[in-house]
Amino acid sequence: MKEFNQFINGQFVKSTSTKVTKVLNPCTEEVISIIPEGSVEDANLAIDAAYHAQKQWRRLAAIERARYLNQMADVIRDNRVFLAETLAAEQAKVMSLAQVEIDVTAEYFDYNAAWARRIEGEIIQSDNRKEHLFLHKAPIGVAVGVLPWNFPFFVMARKLAPSLVTGNTCVIKPSCVAPNTVLEFFKLIEKLNVPAGVINYVCGTGPVVGNALTKNPRTGIVSLTGSVFAGQKIMEAAAPNITKVSLELGGKAPAIVCADADLELAAQAIVNSKVIFSGQVCNCAERLYVEESIHDQFMDMLKEKMGAVKVEDAFATNNPDMSSMVSSDQVNKVEEMVNFAKKEGAEIVMGGSRSSQFDKGYFYQPTLLTNVNHNMQIIKEEVFGPVLPVMKFSTLDEAIELANDCEYGLTSSIFSENYNKVMHASMELEFGETYINRQHFEAIQGFHAGWKKSGLGGADGKHGMEEYLQTKVVYSQYR
Ligand code: NAD
Repeated sequence: MKEFNQFINGQFVKSTSTKVTKVLNPCTEEVISIIPEGSVEDANLAIDAAYHAQKQWRRLAAIERARYLNQMADVIRDNRVFLAETLAAEQAKVMSLAQVEIDVTAEYFDYNAAWARRIEGEIIQSDNRKEHLFLHKAPIGVAVGVLPWNFPFFVMARKLAPSLVTGNTCVIKPSCVAPNTVLEFFKLIEKLNVPAGVINYVCGTGPVVGNALTKNPRTGIVSLTGSVFAGQKIMEAAAPNITKVSLELGGKAPAIVCADADLELAAQAIVNSKVIFSGQVCNCAERLYVEESIHDQFMDMLKEKMGAVKVEDAFATNNPDMSSMVSSDQVNKVEEMVNFAKKEGAEIVMGGSRSSQFDKGYFYQPTLLTNVNHNMQIIKEEVFGPVLPVMKFSTLDEAIELANDCEYGLTSSIFSENYNKVMHASMELEFGETYINRQHFEAIQGFHAGWKKSGLGGADGKHGMEEYLQTKVVYSQYR
């Protein structure tokens, strides 16, 4: 079993707290590592280190900072199997998907490194003669990245890479549920000799360490990926110092299937999206609206495809589609929500309970529900499991209205072969992303940003990198 320390000011150090958190392999329920349950003091030490290091870091040429990012990408590629196995073990992500996460993370570092030569300011016309207004892009200072457990390694890069290339220093707070891959990465990159204090991590709970990192007056920006509840807490803690926040929060993604869609493509994409990582993905289909003329036919297709889903240990070699859920808390929550939906009148078409196939672990069956309506919790709240409630619609505008009747606004999708319909829907759907004839997975050069309660600001691409910059205008007169 592994034991990890904190990483502060270029050193692996013991926490000032003696408390620890045990990390489990969700498939076997065995303890696989022990991490510090850090203190407020740990958090403040890390912020101080990052604050002092930033003074020199921001003065490096951007391309010099970028070289560290390219080296981080190389380290990830050199250790891709080890990192994928670490990820699969700590969160029951099937190896094929774990490998994708590791590979995309390496690309993410390289992609952000390439911005070093492209960050540009502006020259603005002055109202005075012999004067130029130079608009510069400047780093904010210390960036705090608070991570979820579902894509912990990729989301670490989403915080670390854009903040470092733009001249910020960074403190990462991993999730206590799945921290190991991030912590192993910090050990692997020790040899890169990143200047002390530029990158740090502090393990610990959200209410203690996450809160202290956010409240510290030296913190310049806090970027969270997590639940709406944690986002609200971070906004509260950031308010006294007017600290910038960037929030990527939960979703309740609608999928709309029109009668003129390629039904085979739609059914497969929606089932894949629902079972990938056991439905624990912020942008996978959380509710489905099917045009009434094809409803029964489409339900049969969904049943057939869900019935073929292979559920196995994350390391199984027969290419499983999904594995255990991440924790007992998560499977309990899904179980409670489905049981409550049944009480509210939902009908179980498939699944509807834990999987009895395994002695250990937190496995839940792929589940289809009908007879649901918009007053039910299962249609309104994020389930974050392999559970799909389905409703009928008669016109596209009715489907769009139902899709928009939601407090989340992260992602949405529509399946139709009619260009006018998909364009109309894309403009009307109140979500930061709309996928046409496909499901989930955003591009690293796109912009992943939730509307409504799904977030504030966003990540990826040029706009995601600019979250970590502030502007300054220099008024320059000459004679
Ligand atoms: P969570 O909110 O429980 O935890 C996320 C992080 O926030 C953890 O590191 C946690 O310790 C920290 N945290 C909790 N309370 C805090 C506080 N008071 N102050 C500071 N930090 C605090 O979320 P989770 O269960 O790890 O992840 C699942 C959630 O994340 C889902 O809602 C999912 O939709 C969302 N998510 C969103 C995206 C996106 O891009 N929008 C991506 C992945 C996951």
